[in-house]
Amino acid sequence: MSIPFIDLKSQYKEIETAVKKGIDGVLEHGAYIMGPEIADLEARLSSFSSVRFGVGCASGTDALVMALMALEIGPGDAVFTTPFTFMATAESIALLGATPVFVDVDPVTYNIDPEDLRRKIADVKDNRTDLTPRGVISVDLFGQPADYDLIEPLAHNSGLFLIVDAAQSFGATYKGKPVCSLGDVACTSFFPAKPLGCYGDGGMVFAHNEELYKLLQSIRVHGMGEDKYENVRLGINGRLDAMQAAVLLAKFEIFPGEIVKRQQVADRYEELLSSVPGLTTPAVAEGNTSVWAQYSVLAKNSEHRTELMGKLGAASIPTAIYYPKPLHLQKAFANLGYQEGDFPVCEEIGNRIFALPMHPYLKAEDQATIAETLKG
Ligand SMILES: *Cc1c(COP(=O)(O)O)cnc(C)c1O
Repeated sequence: MSIPFIDLKSQYKEIETAVKKGIDGVLEHGAYIMGPEIADLEARLSSFSSVRFGVGCASGTDALVMALMALEIGPGDAVFTTPFTFMATAESIALLGATPVFVDVDPVTYNIDPEDLRRKIADVKDNRTDLTPRGVISVDLFGQPADYDLIEPLAHNSGLFLIVDAAQSFGATYKGKPVCSLGDVACTSFFPAKPLGCYGDGGMVFAHNEELYKLLQSIRVHGMGEDKYENVRLGINGRLDAMQAAVLLAKFEIFPGEIVKRQQVADRYEELLSSVPGLTTPAVAEGNTSVWAQYSVLAKNSEHRTELMGKLGAASIPTAIYYPKPLHLQKAFANLGYQEGDFPVCEEIGNRIFALPMHPYLKAEDQATIAETLKG
């Protein structure tokens, strides 16, 4: 029996009846676009996240684009973010003609380093560029919240907005607060491999402010005004499918239990892997919880990583690297003029990190096999 990296089949067995009933419901009522499942899901997920409003949308990428459009980001604006993330985080900034300004990461959490954020904001403010500092997008990498007690005041005291990219962290908490209640806007993704995923693409934007909520709803449907053929601004086709919302409503029923199971899997890994020589297991900052979108460990160096991944591969145990190339070194951002060495912490982690199978249905004996294989 091979060990899957993410086991969506076992999950499907738990929810099969509810998923089929939900999809049947959409087929029966026929409101495929903006059917009643959308508002139902928005109400449930925003209540779960202790935030007033949720706006379902077509993907996590669209969630970020819609948030930036609502905050009127455009050419000449600087938005600070991490280079150690999925492409969409910085891509959304650049798509609107604004400039992503990268900030190095913390060596323990791999999230944006508040000290470096302070420096980079000061650099842009001191007119070393002709950009206007406008906002920060923090990322809760692998499901662990960033350091919001430091990041939020840094942003707000400089007049910048804070967008929380919670694509990997929906369900995690920062000092008891759900991550999607943090920042001015929070964005998440329901891509199938995320902790709460659907069976296609999907996402949601969360906001406390009613004005922002109305703007997001308008931007989601081509900048609609009072009705859909009155267009008062530019928007996108950013709607979430009713079918996907129905799938999410079924999955959300078991999601709190899955969060508990993910933590149990992470705890077992911690126990099993602490005796693997040279391996560093992930650490979650005191007072916070992670939803373990990934379980990423650090090898001593890149040769050691190749050796460990090779051992697992030989035993048919899947692994992955998030992220093999940081965003500042991607060709798509070559115009920003960054070079190797610009973000030393991010680059070093990128050379050492790799992810092990992680999902709520991972069995203790499979985890023991993974640990034995790493030691062998
Ligand atoms: C997955 C992801 C996104 C994009 O979500 P999609 O639904 O795939 O568009 C954005 N940011 C981060 C950090 C992600 O992991």
